[in-house]
Order: sequence, then structure tokens, then C-alpha cells
Amino acid sequence: MKQNPDLQKRLFAYLAPHRKILILGLLCAVSTSLITLSMAMFLKMAFDAIQFGDGQKLAFICIAVVAVYTIKGVFSFGQSYYLSLTANRIAAQLRNEIFGHLQRLSLSFFNKRRTGNILSTITGDVPVLQEASVSIKDAITAPITIAVSVVVLLIYNWKLWLVSLIFIPFMAIVISKITKRIRAISKEVQDRLADITTNSSESVSGVRIIKSFAAEELEISRFVTHNQSSLKANMRSVRKSALLRPLTEFIGAFGIALVLFLGGLLVTNSQQSLKPLKEQWYKEVAIPEIMNNQPMPKEPDWLTDKKWKAPAGAFTLGGLMAFVYLLNALSRSAGDMGSLLSLRARAFAAAKRIFDEVLDVESEVQEPPDPIVLPRIRGEVRFENVSFQYASEGEKVLKNISFVVKPGEIVAIVGKTGSGKSTLVDLIPRFYDPTEGRVLVDDVDIREVKLDSLRRQIGIVPQETWLFAGTLKHNISYGNPDATDEAIRSAAQAANASSFIDSSSMPLGYDTIVGERGIRLSGGERQRIAIARAILMNPRLLILDEATSSLDAASEALVKEALDSLMKGRTTIVIAHRLSTIMNADRILVMSEGRIIESGSHRELIALNGAYSRLYETQVQGLEE
Ligand code: ATP
Ligand code: MG
Repeated sequence: MKQNPDLQKRLFAYLAPHRKILILGLLCAVSTSLITLSMAMFLKMAFDAIQFGDGQKLAFICIAVVAVYTIKGVFSFGQSYYLSLTANRIAAQLRNEIFGHLQRLSLSFFNKRRTGNILSTITGDVPVLQEASVSIKDAITAPITIAVSVVVLLIYNWKLWLVSLIFIPFMAIVISKITKRIRAISKEVQDRLADITTNSSESVSGVRIIKSFAAEELEISRFVTHNQSSLKANMRSVRKSALLRPLTEFIGAFGIALVLFLGGLLVTNSQQSLKPLKEQWYKEVAIPEIMNNQPMPKEPDWLTDKKWKAPAGAFTLGGLMAFVYLLNALSRSAGDMGSLLSLRARAFAAAKRIFDEVLDVESEVQEPPDPIVLPRIRGEVRFENVSFQYASEGEKVLKNISFVVKPGEIVAIVGKTGSGKSTLVDLIPRFYDPTEGRVLVDDVDIREVKLDSLRRQIGIVPQETWLFAGTLKHNISYGNPDATDEAIRSAAQAANASSFIDSSSMPLGYDTIVGERGIRLSGGERQRIAIARAILMNPRLLILDEATSSLDAASEALVKEALDSLMKGRTTIVIAHRLSTIMNADRILVMSEGRIIESGSHRELIALNGAYSRLYETQVQGLEE
């Protein structure tokens, strides 16, 4: 609770740029509420006119009501429009900020969190803030309505108002008891809903595994169970919240009944209070006249039921109507204040998640204030006593690694799975920073350079190629949006990808949609797209993580050819799984448990008869067979 003022300040800062529109919306909201309140006055006048038979006045009031409601319509539209405009603009701004920040965060951020949690800030938390910013109006209109009605009711008849308060404590007890229970259940409801979401998203992303294990029925029954408990939890909450209104209205009915009863007595009393006036008139005016043998004088207007003016302070029927109307407005606004408080709590929780989990997280990979912009590099890479661990409490994945790759050299890294090969190459484009030691490119510590000037010069062909939803052209030219069609074509050609792109199975050629909901490419085809991407980028430094899944001989040959043309004239560091790649390399680094244990050419390492030769016998040769 303590940081709430800060949080509130920070949220208000989002409103500030929109204050003109916001104020316009709030003015409309206040006008709407005041007009709604003014209906009490019209009710009183109308019923007074009815009671005292003033048809002309009644007609006038009816016309006035229509006119006033027309004006209210305009304000009401303005209120919805301007407040929604503010809310939507803030939501859009937040979404932009979250997305922009996510793009700038380092990989370690994404390693630590579940995709669903990251995305739920945009899909779940932003809408709550959007809703809350529309409800800001209640924070202003509800107190105004409450204040105005309390003052008017007090002036009007404070005794009757006090009577109507008798039931408020009862109502408060019922409301607080029920809402406490609803809150307890709502956590359960959220959890059950999360089960359903997780279950369904898993079943979509894991559809292959489900099918291959023929586990559809199992998944269905798991889902049915989750759905059933969600339904049960929901209905328990619904039973409680459905009870809230009838119960409060039941108690409220006592209040209204009491006010109607006592107020009604007051109305009849004030009419009876006319009797003494009438008697007095007869005693003082009519009877003396008659006694003087004068004709009976005409009753004055104020004595006939028509045109009768209520004596000041008299409680008329219209007054009673207005009283009940205001009482109703008062209790409705009190209800609004209640839901406003709970919305405020939800909005703070949502804002806290957005700030704590995304916007306030600093990227672990930071650019220095005055970064060096790398010119086109020669392509020398040097590791100096580099150690690395993913989490501060975790084990060291890289231990004191030093080596140099000269410009144009091809270096293969081999080692058992989990030995740290991928981690090692991830340090070169600065996906992570070393825990100890440093990585230099062309003799510059990469922590001092401008990130994009480094990364733009490194081509990466990953183990698994990810394709964006879009055309092949878009996927090949990703990162080079200015590439000409011709350049894309020749890159594809060099990557041996043009053969399948131009084949009859892809009539749209480079405009074929791939990726999600597009056509699926085979593993070998995807790899060649990734190679074409790297060729088009024309980097000085190349990092290849060879796919472990083996391809058939034909595509294997195509990929190998593509790689050869890609590696020509570039510094290449390749995590090798294929014998052919290893043989091609100028040097081989053998990794084991985060260390480089051997280094040399294939021949030298075999002659050494150490770890490499064992690895070669058990793994590399086995892979080739
Ligand atoms: P493979 O040949 O299977 O690709 P590798 O040599 O590339 O293996 P790495 O991916 O570098 O191995 O992993 C080295 C070690 O670091 C492993 O023990 C792994 O569990 C751990 N590791 C990898 N990625 C992370 C991560 N994001 N967070 C924490 N630990 C990780
Ligand atoms: Mg790996």
C-alpha cells in the first residue's frame, strides 16, 4: 500500500498529456450528473402542479423536461466520447511502451518468464487501466451527486432524512460480508480460468505431440475437468453476487417504505393544516359578513383546492417524490463509489504488474552513454578469460575461455550436448555479457560499441530457423528492408533456395506466404532461407549453429553447398555437427563442461588421441552413418 501514492502519481502522469480532452469529458460528466439531479426539481414542480390542478404549469414543465433531456443527451455523448478517447489513447500509448521496451530487453529477460505472462500485460492489464481511466469520471461525479443530494435532503427535511439513514448500517454489513466472500472466491475463479487458458494454449502448441501419442481423449477429459471446476467456481461467485442486489434492495425497500409512509403522513398533514386556515377565514371573514346580513363572500383563490399555494415549508406530494428520487440518486452514487474503490485496487494491481514486470525492468545488456560506432570490421574475434553464468546463483556455464579467431578463419566448435557451445557464441553478438573477462571484435571490447553497429555485421544462422508470418521475400530480406528484388533473388540463388522457390509447387514464387498460417517449409528449406537471409546481409562475421536434425542426402548436399558459398571470405564460427563442416574448418575447438580442452586441426587432434578422437569415434562418425 505504501508505494500507492507513487503509483498514483505515475498513472496521473499518463493522463497529463490528454488533460484538455479529459477535462472536456469530465465537464460533460459533471453536467450530465447535475441535470440528472435537477430532475428532482422537475418532479416536484410537476407533481405540485398536478396536485393543485395547474395544467398550464404542468404542460410547461413537460416541455422543459424534454428540452433539458435533449441537452443532457449532448453532454452524455460528450462524456462517453471524450473519456473513451482519453482511455483509448492511454491504452495505445501503454501498449507501444510495453512493446518497445520488450524489444529492447535482453534475452535473459525472456528466459526467465513465460510467454503468457509477458503477453498478459498487454492483453490483460492494459484493458483494466483503460476501464479505470473511463471511470475517473465517477471519482468526480459521485461525490458531487452525494454532496448535492445530502445538502438538498437536509434542507428539505432533515428529520425524514435521518429516518432514511436507519437502514444504512444494515446495508453496509450485508454488502461488506458478501463482497468479502466474492473477493475470496474471485481468486479461485481467476486460477481456474488460468488453468483453462494454459490447457488450451498447450493443446494448440503441443498438437503434434498430443496426436502422436493419441492423447486427444486424455486432453479432452483434462479440459472438461478444468472447465467443470471453472464453471463451479464461477457459479459460486455468481450466487454471491446475484444475492447482493436483492438483499440490499430488500433492505432499501424498508427505507423507502418508511420514507413513503412518514413522508405521506407529512403530505396529508400539511393538507390538513389548511383546515385551521379555512376555519379561521370563515370565523374572521365569512361569518361576520353573514352576521351583518351581507351575502356570503367568495372564497379566496388560496382556499379553493385549485390555485392553492402550499404554505411555505409544507411537505407536498411533489416534495415527497423529489425526496425519494434524491435518496435513490444518493444510494446509487454511493454504490458507484464502492465499485470505484475496487476498480482502483484492480487498476493499481495491473499498473504494478506493467511497471514491475516490464517497463521498470532494465536490460542486462546496456549500451554505454558514448558508444563506439564500429566501422566495417575485419572480423577478428577474441575471447579473454571469459566466464559466464546464466543466473547469479547458478553454475558457471563457461569457465575461463580464451581464444582468437583471425579474420577470414573458419573455426568449428564441437563438444557434447550441454557443454556450452551455444552459450559461447551468444556472447559474440552480446545477447549476454560475460560474467568475467571480455569479448573483443577487431580489438574493441564489445561492451563499448553501439549494439546495432555490432549486430548488423554478424550473420547468424541458428539451429532452428524461425520464419515470420509473411512472404518469402519478406523473410529473406528481414533486417534489410531496402534490399532490391534482384539482390533477394541472387541471395536465394547462392543459398540454393531458388530451386524450390521457383518450382511449380510455389506458383507465387517469392510472394508465397510462409510461417504461421502459411505454407510449411521443410527443415532443409527453412535452413536455406536462413542462409539466404545471411548472404543478403553480407556480414563480415558469421555464426552458424548447425541443425542437429539430419537431412536427407540430397538436401544435405544443397545446404552444404549453400553454406560454402556463404562462408567464403568471412570469419566463421560454426557449432559443427557434420563431419564435412569439421573437415572444412581451419581449426577445431573442443569444448567440455564450459572449457576449451583441445584446439587444432582435425589431423592434429586425431593424432593427439584425446577427447576429440573419442568424440569423433562415438559421435561425429555415428552421425554420418
Ligand atoms: P547443444 O549441443 O545441446 O546445443 P550446447 O553445448 O549448445 O548444447 P548450451 O546451450 O550452451 O549447450 O548450454 C550449456 C549449459 O547452460 C547447459 O547446462 C544448459 O542447461 C545451460 N543453459 C542453457 N541456456 C540456459 C538459460 N537460458 N538459462 C539457464 N541455463 C541455461
Ligand atoms: Mg546448442
